[in-house]
Amino acid sequence: MSENLRVRYAPSPTGHLHIGGARTALFDYLLARRFGGQFVVRFEDTDQTRHKESGIQDQLDGLKWLGLDWDESVDIGGPYGPYRQTERLDLYRPFTEKMLAEGTAYHCYCSEEELEQERAEQEASGATLGYSGRCRHLTAEQIAAFKAEGRKPTVRFKVPAGRTIAFEDKIRGHVEFGTDDIQDFIIARPDGIPMYNFAVILDDYLMKINLVIRGEEHLTNTPRQILLYEALGMPVPEFAHVSLILNQDRKKMSKRDETTLQFMNQYNEKGYLPEAVLNFIVLLGWSPVGEQEIFSKEELIAQFDLDRVSKSPAVFDMEKLNWMNGHYMKSADPERIVAICLPHLQKAGYLPEILTDEQRAWATSLIKLNQEKMQFGEQIVELSELFFRDHVEIEDEEAKAILTEESAPVVLRSFLAQIEQAEELTAETVKALLKNVQKETGYKGKPLFMATRVALTGQMHGPDLNETVALLGREKVTNRLSSLLS
Ligand code: GLU
Repeated sequence: MSENLRVRYAPSPTGHLHIGGARTALFDYLLARRFGGQFVVRFEDTDQTRHKESGIQDQLDGLKWLGLDWDESVDIGGPYGPYRQTERLDLYRPFTEKMLAEGTAYHCYCSEEELEQERAEQEASGATLGYSGRCRHLTAEQIAAFKAEGRKPTVRFKVPAGRTIAFEDKIRGHVEFGTDDIQDFIIARPDGIPMYNFAVILDDYLMKINLVIRGEEHLTNTPRQILLYEALGMPVPEFAHVSLILNQDRKKMSKRDETTLQFMNQYNEKGYLPEAVLNFIVLLGWSPVGEQEIFSKEELIAQFDLDRVSKSPAVFDMEKLNWMNGHYMKSADPERIVAICLPHLQKAGYLPEILTDEQRAWATSLIKLNQEKMQFGEQIVELSELFFRDHVEIEDEEAKAILTEESAPVVLRSFLAQIEQAEELTAETVKALLKNVQKETGYKGKPLFMATRVALTGQMHGPDLNETVALLGREKVTNRLSSLLS
């Protein structure tokens, strides 16, 4: 890795942080932290039609949520700012002028309609599509005439003919493009604002970026950018183009893809843990040396490298995401899980917005009881649903069968009597009550515990029975038992 590594994540602020962008940023971050470099976050906000005012904050929030930090950006400044393109327009202008003066770029006066017509003619005659370069050779009179008409020119780059542009991509290996397939492209709009390919190389140059990591969709932009660097006599950074992330059907993800979770705010809203999501994302492309799958951020910083990033597409696997998140949830501080889950219970209408101390303590125990089983926070709603409904529904055939055994009513009647006499219900007292039932009825094991569980929860499996009974509380337990017994 080059000395004083400088990498950047350069999103267009069009919305929340997407998993593809998050992965690019994460790769940048890990390399910068591993090799003592700098990680820059800057914004390509010149396209007002796609720009969203909250986009910059949404992106930064997403990165922060994932646990990333950066060395230079709009919020903390830095030596090469400003860090959004709309505030850098004055910095770009001299480069446009230099290129026009040196003849590596020229003014193009073609109108939209003329370009469309040219395209239609090319299509009709089967010629190569793209700008023909006809404004390259305008005479002084033609230019004067266009100006008199009030036309405002774009600036086009003069693509040199017959060249091969090659580079060693740090993920894809040797890549090359012929310049004969590249037409003179627009580098600045009539209002002087540079287009992506131009602004990006100027930013990368001015910010001393020496490694560009970005999505594979930009691969065909890279020869154009290399040509621009050359035309301006600037050093060309290294490139690493990360492959696509496909959905479970191995197709390109669409915005509303049910088989994937794409935006960081969605992960947050569904109650995923950032460290699990970070671990999941890094494995979308990167593979470690051994079999290990669970990595802390620190472990990743110690070993992440681009040479183990695959050039084949990554496939989003929801089951793996949930397994991984569940793994992190099990060992997370229970108070954190409570903080994540409480709002879900409130949103489901199971708990009021403002909780009494007693309600809070009860909900805390309920959430802790389910911590082991949960894969992500939102699941608390379905996992704890039986604590909130009035009646139990027994749908499982096996569970129904348990209640038809002759031991069942004996056990349940005895347990009901025990509950009615009990002073308070805690996991300990419930344990003692069940012991009493055992003594009184002579039933133990499955006939005792399964019957009780099924009667109270409708399910064969679930968290600790003593805790479950205690949390259900006397009223629900007596109601459920009496209605079954009657
Ligand atoms: N704004 C571009 C994007 O979001 C940045 C591409 C680049 O990193 O060069 O895809």
